[in-house]
Amino acid sequence: MIDLGALRQSLAALCFPPRCLCCDARLASPTPPLFCGECLDKIDFIAAPLCPVCGRAFPDCAGDNHLCGNCLRHPPHFDSARAVAHYRDPLAHAIHTFKYRRHTFGLATFAALLPEGLPAPYLAPDLILPVPLHRQRLRERGFNQALLLARAFYPAQRERIDPEILIRHRATPPQTGLSGKTRRRNLKGSFLVTDPARLAGKTILLVDDVFTTGSTANECARTLKKDGARAVHVLTLARVAE
Ligand SMILES: [Zn+2]
Ligand SMILES: [Zn+2]
Repeated sequence: MIDLGALRQSLAALCFPPRCLCCDARLASPTPPLFCGECLDKIDFIAAPLCPVCGRAFPDCAGDNHLCGNCLRHPPHFDSARAVAHYRDPLAHAIHTFKYRRHTFGLATFAALLPEGLPAPYLAPDLILPVPLHRQRLRERGFNQALLLARAFYPAQRERIDPEILIRHRATPPQTGLSGKTRRRNLKGSFLVTDPARLAGKTILLVDDVFTTGSTANECARTLKKDGARAVHVLTLARVAE
């Protein structure tokens, strides 16, 4: 019997030979991750020791995980946040082309980068919610990158992924270049829970592409907990290094 899936894949590989998502080098295999060896080596994966709350890495420290100064001074509303790697090339380049040039074929690669051994709330949360975009931004972009990432990260848990429970009802100006304080002020009240009954006592996993200052995740977590969520954890593909 002909394996149609395999045949389709071989044809696709012939017509569109796999290329590195960052430097465009030809790859020998279409199996993700689609990065050449050189680019793969440059991905700055986040490893312990790190802050067990916000997931900030301490690359120059040989000790155990410990709280960072930020989380000590201002404990966030989310219970923990984890990211796969720092937001630097080649991953940053791949995320940028995914978001702004719709290179959604990178999704399988992003999923392949997820580390093994994530803590329990990241493996089987009650609900998986993508950080929402305002409907105007969604119209411009055509898709919510956080929703596509959630589906790629959790293909076996699609029934737990719900993009309708948490919505962004207030458009916020672009946050790039703003301080944490200004971001927090801009975001206050931006999110809304459409169906609080669905959250009662639940462990929520929020998914987004990039964790920058944590203001967005924090405001989402504040909103979700105010409306009944028991715990909120945050998984992002990348994290801006401090
Ligand atoms: Zn490359
Ligand atoms: Zn921290």
